[in-house]
Amino acid sequence: MSRLYFDAHATTPCDPQVVAAMLPFFTERFGNAASLQHPYGWEAQEAVEQARQRVAGLVGAKLRDVVFTSGATEANNLAIRGVIEAQLDSGRAPADLHVVTLITEHPAVLDPCARLEHVGVSVTRVPVQPDGLVDPERLRTLVTPGTTLVSVMAGNNEIGVLQPLAAIAAIAHGAGAWFHCDASQATGYLAIDMAAQDIDLLSCTAHKIYGPKGVGALVVRRSSKVTLAAQHLGGGHERGLRSGTLNVPGIVGFGEAARLAVARRADDGARVGALRDRLWARLRASLPGVHLRGAATPRLPHNLNVGFDGVTGRDLILALTDVAVSPGAACASTSADASHVLLALGLDEAAAKSSLRFGLLRTVTEADVESLADRLIELVPSLRASRGPKR
Ligand SMILES: *Cc1c(COP(=O)(O)O)cnc(C)c1O
Repeated sequence: MSRLYFDAHATTPCDPQVVAAMLPFFTERFGNAASLQHPYGWEAQEAVEQARQRVAGLVGAKLRDVVFTSGATEANNLAIRGVIEAQLDSGRAPADLHVVTLITEHPAVLDPCARLEHVGVSVTRVPVQPDGLVDPERLRTLVTPGTTLVSVMAGNNEIGVLQPLAAIAAIAHGAGAWFHCDASQATGYLAIDMAAQDIDLLSCTAHKIYGPKGVGALVVRRSSKVTLAAQHLGGGHERGLRSGTLNVPGIVGFGEAARLAVARRADDGARVGALRDRLWARLRASLPGVHLRGAATPRLPHNLNVGFDGVTGRDLILALTDVAVSPGAACASTSADASHVLLALGLDEAAAKSSLRFGLLRTVTEADVESLADRLIELVPSLRASRGPKR
């Protein structure tokens, strides 16, 4: 395929080393990690525990803190519904429970919150500033002593902005609430450290960091003393928090992806960030009417989100044959609605729909970026001309 891939926020390919690590666990090492009566099970369990250590190392947690799931969507559900339902199970009334989140969160956070609201839990969705960042002072006024959980992502999947996690953790903990962070986009590039940043629960997923799809984790710091209600009941796997036979090949792949990310994310971030900056510099120098969506810093190094006056993201995508790029979240790409994240920046619907999200892979080359910039610099003026002013 000669396609240029600029949709790294939707998913990334498996690193060849990840595939190599996984392969034996489909065939000769096929044991069930819970079959501890024989060596097949032992071998699988040992591989799972090694992966668990590596995923813990990815986020500055301990081996025992990691609960493997099917991805970040499930991890977010387990965190948010799990925390609140455990309180309901212990006899507290829904109206006494309060979740605070941002309006720019991923649907995998917003939808579980909406579900809880439906049963009477109070939910506050905090607006962001025009640069996409939450104002900690505003957050402080909305997190109260009655707040149970604060859920704020690390790096935004559409506009790449990095929320001030340490300040948010301090606000949550000052009110006696737990802090959950969806770090799906950030773990591949940032040295997230749950202990140093005081994060109680963290969601991550393999396929955003060059691992396989369908595996992720909720990391729950034991020292935070969080009580969670399991969302999958059954054989009591993962300390009863997530029953179901472990996806051993997937978990092994996640572990290898985590190990590689830790080893290379600083270098990757510097290189990819420089190419991202190069792309933006070329667009800005050669095209009038282009706008960076979200703060330039702090920002994920592999994200660029640009509004192009006078064209729609949809038209651009259609014209950019052989370039894989998307207007925003993959989950929302079938909907005709403007992105909720861009609208939250205060953009009107037309401005939101004029935007494209570029997600750079860590294997991106200078030639890829120059080629994309050339295509855009040629296409945007011609699309603008073909729309033309109506006479
Ligand atoms: C991709 C993504 C998810 C969903 O992760 P899955 O593993 O695909 O379920 C959740 N949150 C963010 C911020 C993401 O980027």
